[in-house]
Amino acid sequence: MLDTLRRLVEEMSGAADLDEALELLVCRVRDVMEIDACSIYLDVGGSGDLVLMATDGLNPERVGKVRLHANEGLVGLVAKRKEPINLQNLSAHPQYRYSPEKGEEEFNAFLGVPIVHFRSVLGVLVAQQRMNREFNDKEVDFLVTIGAQAAGAINSVVAKENIRSLVDEVEEEPKTTFIRGVKSSPGIAIGNIVAATNLESLQSVPTRHAQDIKAEETAFFRAVETVRLELQRVNRDTESSYPAEVRSIFDAYAQLSTSDSLVSSVLAGIHEGIWAPAALRDAIERHAGIFEKISDPYLRARAQDIRDIGRRILMHLRKGVSTARQYPDYTVLAGDDLSITDIAEVPVEKLAGIVSAEGSSMSHTAILARALGIPAVMGLRELPFGRFEGRTVVVDGHEGLLHLRPSSSLLKEYRRLVEENRLTATKLSKLRGLPAETSDGDRLPIYVKAGLLADLATAQQSGADGIGLYRTEFEFIGRESFPSEQEQFKIYRKVLKSFYPRPVCLRTLDVGGDKILPYLPTQEANPFLGWRGIRFALDHPEIFMTQLRAMLRANQGLNNLQVMFPMISTVEELDEGLGLLERARAELLEEGCELTRPSIGVMIEVPSAVYQAGLLAERVEFLSVGTNDLTQYLLAVDRGNRRVSGLYDSLNPVVIKAVQDVVESAHRLGKLVSVCGEITANPAAVILLLGAGVDSLTTTASTLPHVKQVIRSVSRVEARRLTDKALGLPNGTAVRNLLEKVLERLGLETFGKGISPEFRI
Ligand code: PEP
Ligand code: MG
Repeated sequence: MLDTLRRLVEEMSGAADLDEALELLVCRVRDVMEIDACSIYLDVGGSGDLVLMATDGLNPERVGKVRLHANEGLVGLVAKRKEPINLQNLSAHPQYRYSPEKGEEEFNAFLGVPIVHFRSVLGVLVAQQRMNREFNDKEVDFLVTIGAQAAGAINSVVAKENIRSLVDEVEEEPKTTFIRGVKSSPGIAIGNIVAATNLESLQSVPTRHAQDIKAEETAFFRAVETVRLELQRVNRDTESSYPAEVRSIFDAYAQLSTSDSLVSSVLAGIHEGIWAPAALRDAIERHAGIFEKISDPYLRARAQDIRDIGRRILMHLRKGVSTARQYPDYTVLAGDDLSITDIAEVPVEKLAGIVSAEGSSMSHTAILARALGIPAVMGLRELPFGRFEGRTVVVDGHEGLLHLRPSSSLLKEYRRLVEENRLTATKLSKLRGLPAETSDGDRLPIYVKAGLLADLATAQQSGADGIGLYRTEFEFIGRESFPSEQEQFKIYRKVLKSFYPRPVCLRTLDVGGDKILPYLPTQEANPFLGWRGIRFALDHPEIFMTQLRAMLRANQGLNNLQVMFPMISTVEELDEGLGLLERARAELLEEGCELTRPSIGVMIEVPSAVYQAGLLAERVEFLSVGTNDLTQYLLAVDRGNRRVSGLYDSLNPVVIKAVQDVVESAHRLGKLVSVCGEITANPAAVILLLGAGVDSLTTTASTLPHVKQVIRSVSRVEARRLTDKALGLPNGTAVRNLLEKVLERLGLETFGKGISPEFRI
């Protein structure tokens, strides 16, 4: 059975269109089950009506014509109940509905199973037989399993079909139709689609032998140099229109293109006798592949940067020349895998919005869009952008939607929102120099997060009081071996200097889980419960000590360093970590360095650490709650698993309660508590964290003004009252509903949302 299933799903996924896929399904099922008819009904338009889409055994002329309303007939009943119905004689059932010309008069046995994808009923699969008998358990199990397996394949084919119909349909007053992607840069853009110029595809490079190794090497070096100069030029050309922090991304790209590990990897391929384009293709795939396997969205997104660099080098290797293009006003730039250089080609005053089939909210394209304040939606898979050229669309970066055929009433609503957002942005820009102080006079430091040197400029511009979380592992992951003490020293020194004299919190190596070092691969059944964070560091004192020494040395003469340990789950781990830090300090003092003891913190990311927060706080200066991991461990939801992502909710009252408990334990000892998970980017959550009593917040540069504004709009007393109320609610949705009203009252409802409820999808 397993083999039949696997083959069937593979065949369906490879089908040219929905009709072919469904035809395959019903024929195969009829053969395997040795029955007289197999049919499939689908809710294609999302209206709830079930349409006969394919049949092998009933009258084929009724395909596309039989349409059952929700709950109509036995098929409708299967969809409504979301469970199989097995009948010996279908016409005896009170809900049987006779449908002329369907050709089922002579059938008796009926077995219908729902096709369910992520809780939604896509349709119903029906097996029928003339014989008056009940289907046996084995047959029921088989059809249920086929339905479950086929659901994913059907869903993806239906999505493609819906997009195709969007391209083809033309109406005077269109129905509102949209595609959901990933929210990547907030805001609303109304403009016209312009497809980006496509660069060379690395995938299409054939493998060939190098005729002349020296010549291949020279061509490769020349191409790399041209890309470097090109990026320098883009950096220069955008000097007046792009902020400095954005242009620093071009520097990071230039560094990536000339990086030792990439260059030496390509050269190794050439020396093995492969021509430069194929050696480049393989090296880029290897490098990008390392990042792609990571479920941390920031790191995974680096794969896109690497591929873009690869395509650029390839273009020059093949002597391709990019041509200058004219862009109209209100350009919504669209492409399969937009890169930051694609965006930089559009004069910023012409650029209204950005949409991309690939990419995520953490890609540099998204970072650039946010820094420029251009609304963006990424991850709009399967969209043939070229066919939409010139079409007026709405990019809703708040909700992650691309409206491809907006109705006039929707356009009007969005125009209203654009004006409202413009007024909000003007107001927020005035907050940069103001403190984050509650209306009853409580002042909180607001820190920023960073993870690569390229992030620093954006962080500096944000008006933050320091860096509250610097993820040092990013520098370890994008390499081919562990960085030396001196290499790390240089990086940490730069980071500490960038915010001097404000505090900078360097988190020690947090690898494992989904952050696997390419030069130290590990295979674990449950990596998130395995060798990660401090556990890995303590088992590798040679690596950990090198890092601690580099951090302490970088702090000499600056004294703004804070050191933070990730994933602490026992008191012993902390004691061991502190012991190693002390040893590193003693060694350096012996070597003649002048050192002060940095302030030390512990991340609270594991339930055991919540319960032992007091014992941990006794030993250090501060605690920082990592709600990303804490949510995953409290709710038992893998943070990177799409199937359970609906259950992952940092606004679940349980998470807020944990933060409150940690604050109480630490405050009893006079120690400070910060929160550094993604939850701090949510204005509603900021109110709850304030109410839970936190002393500071660490957020992303782009959301920092919003966090400030929320804090300045409420009092601690009011926040405490709301948090107590939220803690009595059953789930995150109820908490959101409660806070939505509060944000509205505070005049902050446009933060990350805005469209009127009647237009929401
Ligand atoms: C967290 O878990 O909340 C956190 C900030 O750490 P990371 O996302 O790097 O695991
Ligand atoms: Mg974490």
